[in-house]
Amino acid sequence: MDRKMKPESLMMSYGYKPELSEGAIKCPIFQTSTFVFKNAEEGKAFFEVAYGLRPQNEGEELGLIYSRINNPDLEILENRLTLWDEAEECAVFESGMSAITTVLLEFLKPGDLLLISSPLYGGSDHFIKKILPKFGINVAEFSVGQSKEEIINIVNASGMADKLAMVYIETPANPTNDLIDIQCSKEIATHFSSVDKQVYLAVDNTYMGPLWQHPIKQGADLILYSATKYIGGHSDVIAGACLGSNELIKRVKGLRTFLGNMASPNTGWLLLRSLETLKVRMDVQANNANKVAEFLNNHPAVEKVYFLGNLTEKDGEQYHIKQRQCLSNGGMISFDVKGHEKDAFTFLNSLKLIKLAVSLGSTESLAEHPATMTHVDVDIELREKLSITEKMIRLSVGVEHYEDIIFDINQALEKMTMQ
Ligand SMILES: *Cc1c(COP(=O)(O)O)cnc(C)c1O
Repeated sequence: MDRKMKPESLMMSYGYKPELSEGAIKCPIFQTSTFVFKNAEEGKAFFEVAYGLRPQNEGEELGLIYSRINNPDLEILENRLTLWDEAEECAVFESGMSAITTVLLEFLKPGDLLLISSPLYGGSDHFIKKILPKFGINVAEFSVGQSKEEIINIVNASGMADKLAMVYIETPANPTNDLIDIQCSKEIATHFSSVDKQVYLAVDNTYMGPLWQHPIKQGADLILYSATKYIGGHSDVIAGACLGSNELIKRVKGLRTFLGNMASPNTGWLLLRSLETLKVRMDVQANNANKVAEFLNNHPAVEKVYFLGNLTEKDGEQYHIKQRQCLSNGGMISFDVKGHEKDAFTFLNSLKLIKLAVSLGSTESLAEHPATMTHVDVDIELREKLSITEKMIRLSVGVEHYEDIIFDINQALEKMTMQ
């Protein structure tokens, strides 16, 4: 039977052999730090492979040694995650930030230049601008709407074009849903590559989860996730993942072993459980988001809605990027209320079903105020330029019935306008 099944059909079984676990239908939590070798020869062989001391024999897999190096919960999780993005390999981490920082540290060295899209997730932005410079790594940035030529000029103007080692982007941008062109970013990386230096493209794909955007198909070398968001999806675990080719993930796992920031068996087990419902959750979230956006688009107390589904032909390049690289409008909506901070706060304080919290991608709907919460660290001028003002609310749409979500938003908007 050669049928290539869809990822959602394989999330309950792929990579797990019940006969190795007393017939248990579910993969147990392998809560163990170390693994017993059958004999000394086996231990020797496992270490040779783990440390790359000799090439792997045909069909020889990395044996279980020690849970900082590998563990069945993590290996099965990594195998399942590769299916959504059709990646060769995956490495899971104890947080999204540990996946991101490990990749940056592995592929950058003193003197190198890193090109980033702006804005980035606050934690990534901080690490890149405040911590990497301590190691002599330089940063250049471009923003939404800049053309390939303009971006190439930014790199050339830095005087360090020959030191460009990585292009790192995040799309859609948080919280405005502005899109960065993945294919164009790859062309820029290729433009600055040479025979002895490949410039890698890394994409933080957290906002679109593994379902709605597949950066490797658009040319990316590495995909990064905060698995805390859609992949985990229940607001009960912090985790991260990195996907790419065998060659690149081998390097990432090498550094992970020495930083010791792999996910724990318990985290791996929670994510295995989450993956079984990833498709159904995200389908409902995307459907709900379309309904909620439609409601917001027509509400008199709402000034502007930032939602991928609102892009049309007249938005030009943004629309075309969406058509090329996004398979859905996603589950994130930002909107400006008519009014000021006080009005936005009245709205947030009046919500009954939707929780006032940061983070995203979970089963419950969440609302927050980017200007004073997630993006308070972004300097005020840039915030204005990105239209992250006191009027903006960010919504992460959950799996509740959309009529109840809309009811809640409607009653909170009424309280806001009546005050
Ligand atoms: C949350 C988030 C991160 C950081 O992930 P953690 O799991 O919180 O460490 C990185 N990038 C994006 C886009 C995020 O939303």
